[in-house]
Amino acid sequence: MRPASGGPGRDVPVGATTTEPTGVRRGSPAAPTESFGICRLCGGPTRPGLAVCYCCRQVTRSLRLPLAPVIAVTTYRVGDRMHRLLRGYKDAPVAAGRSACAVRLSATVDRWLTQGGAGWWARVGASCDAVVGVPSTSGRRGPPPVDRLIRGVPLLHARHRTLLVAGPTPPDHLVASRIGFAVREDAARAAGVGGAVLVVDDTFTTGARAQSAVAVLRRAGMTVRGVLVVGRAIDPDAAPWQDAYWRATGPPM
Ligand SMILES: [Zn+2]
Repeated sequence: MRPASGGPGRDVPVGATTTEPTGVRRGSPAAPTESFGICRLCGGPTRPGLAVCYCCRQVTRSLRLPLAPVIAVTTYRVGDRMHRLLRGYKDAPVAAGRSACAVRLSATVDRWLTQGGAGWWARVGASCDAVVGVPSTSGRRGPPPVDRLIRGVPLLHARHRTLLVAGPTPPDHLVASRIGFAVREDAARAAGVGGAVLVVDDTFTTGARAQSAVAVLRRAGMTVRGVLVVGRAIDPDAAPWQDAYWRATGPPM
């Protein structure tokens, strides 16, 4: 059964936190929790009956630190429209193409923050002193691509600080790293940041990247209130509960 809303470009959250009821539960006319669980850490799908998903268990094991709650604006699967936008804003061959993708992604986030996700923003985001993007770990030069998305969202842009750079040991698939990123001490001092932080990333697959950034910021003395991601990757073929989650939250066929 598909909820009335919840896919990419819509206004209902499809992520969840330990305290944030998921849009899946709110929006689903049936009872999808009978066929998939919701991870209490990342809000993604998990095997029914399990409170924490496999990815969060693996990331916790590699990081040996508590994880921050995650909320996702949309879900996507490889090859669909949202996936093309998330790839295109970074890798489209011409600048105009990258810009067009970025504008659409920022608009999606902006719409969610002011409509379906307004309650989450009021409880979590609005109390943050800084919004921090997760830098690229692929060796890409220049500012983090996600900063471009943040600049297109007024609520995020107003508190945006570029505090992180790539560290000596980047996170890998399912493997987080306490030194995957480093805090730019000069920027942190100049911004007067030492308080609450919201981490923002474009995509969420296993959480290793985002949670590595969380760990670095926390070790620098900041309080990370949560992680906001634009798109959560789902592989419906990976497991029955992934497929059920996708059918409940993904875009219409
Ligand atoms: Zn999880």
